[in-house]
Amino acid sequence: LKFGAEMAVPMSVGRLDCEDADEGRLRLELEGGGAIEARAVVLAAGARYRRLDVDGLERFEGRGISYWASPIEARMARGQEVLLVGGGNSAGQAAVFLSEHAKRVRVLVRRPLEETMSQYLIDRIAAAANIEVIVGASVTGLAGAESLERVRWQGPQGKVEEPVRHLFLFIGADPASGWLDGCGVERERGFVATGDTIPPDALESRTIWRHRRPAPLETSVPGVFAIGDVRAGSVKRVGAAIGEGAAVVAQIHAHLAATRTARADGADRAVGLTATGQPVQRLALSGAARVRG
Ligand SMILES: Cc1cc2nc3c(=O)[nH]c(=O)nc-3n(C[C@H](O)[C@H](O)[C@H](O)COP(=O)(O)OP(=O)(O)OC[C@H]3O[C@@H](n4cnc5c(N)ncnc54)[C@H](O)[C@@H]3O)c2cc1C
Repeated sequence: LKFGAEMAVPMSVGRLDCEDADEGRLRLELEGGGAIEARAVVLAAGARYRRLDVDGLERFEGRGISYWASPIEARMARGQEVLLVGGGNSAGQAAVFLSEHAKRVRVLVRRPLEETMSQYLIDRIAAAANIEVIVGASVTGLAGAESLERVRWQGPQGKVEEPVRHLFLFIGADPASGWLDGCGVERERGFVATGDTIPPDALESRTIWRHRRPAPLETSVPGVFAIGDVRAGSVKRVGAAIGEGAAVVAQIHAHLAATRTARADGADRAVGLTATGQPVQRLALSGAARVRG
């Protein structure tokens, strides 16, 4: 690997210890024992897309079942029947987009859209002649040989089974961020907040934020960055995750340069103190450097 990077696979991180983050020290505790110390950590743990609890789902993923709606899927569904499950904004955006290509888009939701979707999307769905919203419906079965051919659902009209070759699932995602519990990384519904999206009160407990703001991809813990699907507000796409991975490098360099400067300041003071014979155990790098004997 270039630049001396090391890969450790498989290795699962069980916990992030941010207690000494203000002093520029982070600690990753590994599941199965051991720990890694670091001055900067990039969270890129991704998110698990929620799946339907229906037999045969995995068999049809990528063979009629999609978790996204790009121009490629729109082209494949051109002039055909589309079923879409989900009532959030991403579901609404996908339904409107697909309706421009498909013959008809039927949206299955459990609750009325007014409870889960922005009004502008509800209006656009209402204005599209080929979108039908079925409230109180859920998928109960899938069938097909090589790819998805038929879908069964239970709805207000009872049990329905129809030929459908394109089923889109927009039922949310669960970020892989449970292992961050207790380390003070601010999250919104589990997704990691970064930069300006961090609520101001989440920054009050650390003195470092009185001197600077978190970088755009930095979390509420200094030196901890987040990119890709696990980040709140990120575009859940490969290209976006790669772009954020490239963008975060400069922000890490800036963070390391700043902590190096602080470390140098602290070291000067530490030398002064040790010269008086007091043992120095720890350098504090936040704000004005402190030395605790
Ligand atoms: C079925 C499916 C199809 C998709 N198709 C497309 C597509 O066609 N085009 C597109 O642009 N996007 C697609 N996406 C979205 C795309 O996969 C994501 O946007 C992208 O992979 C995000 O990258 P990431 O690095 O943030 O997370 P991921 O790719 O999810 O990587 C996260 C990694 O972190 C690891 N990890 C998590 N927790 C820990 C831990 N505690 N310790 C150690 N490692 C950990 C995981 O094992 C995983 O390897 C699809 C997603 C799904 C689910």
